[in-house]
Amino acid sequence: MTILVTGGLGYIGSHTVVELLNNHFDVVIVDDLSNSEKFILDNIEEVTGKSPVYYPFDLKRRELLTQLLDAHKIDGCINFAAFKAVGESQVIPLDYYENNLFSLINILQEFKTRNISNFIFSSSCTVYGQADEMPIDENTPLKEAESSYGKTKQMGESILKDFATAYHKKVSLLRYFNPIGAHPSAKLGELPIGVPNNLIPYVTQTAAGIREKLSIWGDDYPTPDGTAIRDYIYVVDLAKAHVAALKKLINDPSETVIDIFNLGTGKGSSVLEVVHAFENANQVSVPYQICERRAGDITIAYANADKAEKELGWKADTSLEEALRTTWEWQQYLESRN
Ligand code: UDP
Repeated sequence: MTILVTGGLGYIGSHTVVELLNNHFDVVIVDDLSNSEKFILDNIEEVTGKSPVYYPFDLKRRELLTQLLDAHKIDGCINFAAFKAVGESQVIPLDYYENNLFSLINILQEFKTRNISNFIFSSSCTVYGQADEMPIDENTPLKEAESSYGKTKQMGESILKDFATAYHKKVSLLRYFNPIGAHPSAKLGELPIGVPNNLIPYVTQTAAGIREKLSIWGDDYPTPDGTAIRDYIYVVDLAKAHVAALKKLINDPSETVIDIFNLGTGKGSSVLEVVHAFENANQVSVPYQICERRAGDITIAYANADKAEKELGWKADTSLEEALRTTWEWQQYLESRN
């Protein structure tokens, strides 16, 4: 079967392409390189020994998508192509709505017309807002998302539910917690573009001496050590969940399917625990200072991922330390390229 992977050269997309190829799917990638670089495609080929088809275009260009679908028989899609910086989405919300939703609707219009099903959507735990109870399971009520980015994910989910219901399609909405780490080959990982906002890239660059000090945003949260708690999931485990979710859709005999899965480890770790785990795993030090809380941050978010385990036969079992070791190896690789 041939799977269209949009954003397939991005952080989670590239790892998922590798897992798809390892599971004998053919892959057609569309990626406009707005948050990636061409060498990631070479590295996918090096890691897998296979050459996915690649198109460098923006999915808002419907006519280019039409041409692609005329040229390839596509059996499903994993849609990663989207802007994803929470803070930036507050500054340029219209660009977020335009990019994340227009491209999604273009693909769905084509799938509707061409009778293609099996659509997997990159969603996010941000759709829950600040949940009242932990852990967060799939029945936890969705609250208004805190950012325009989160709203594009909530809207994307609604669009897909309506799409599946009205046109009898199979869709899976995957709500990621905090993805971290890099491929064990050290050839794929999160590319550092600008000053990192997320914790792990900032920790890594601080350990590498690129940043002077990590700022820990708040140590007065109501948690055991005062720092905020998240559920950090290893990116390769996350990529494998996509293949499991895709296989479930393909094998499901029903005409209409709307799957929703939380993808996390089920375990929360505080910012200080992450910093110390990174130091232990890599035998490096990470200088830090405690600062004021960051606006918009929630205290605690971790998943109940039992549903994915039960229905997909999937579990995130890579330890935090192991994931953080791969991050450090990826950092060494990036430095060796310079
Ligand atoms: N964080 C931090 N310093 C940083 C970046 C993040 O203390 O430089 C904290 C942040 O306040 C949150 C956690 O690390 O509690 C995870 O933040 P990230 O931005 O990686 O993910 P989020 O859960 O906010 O999407």
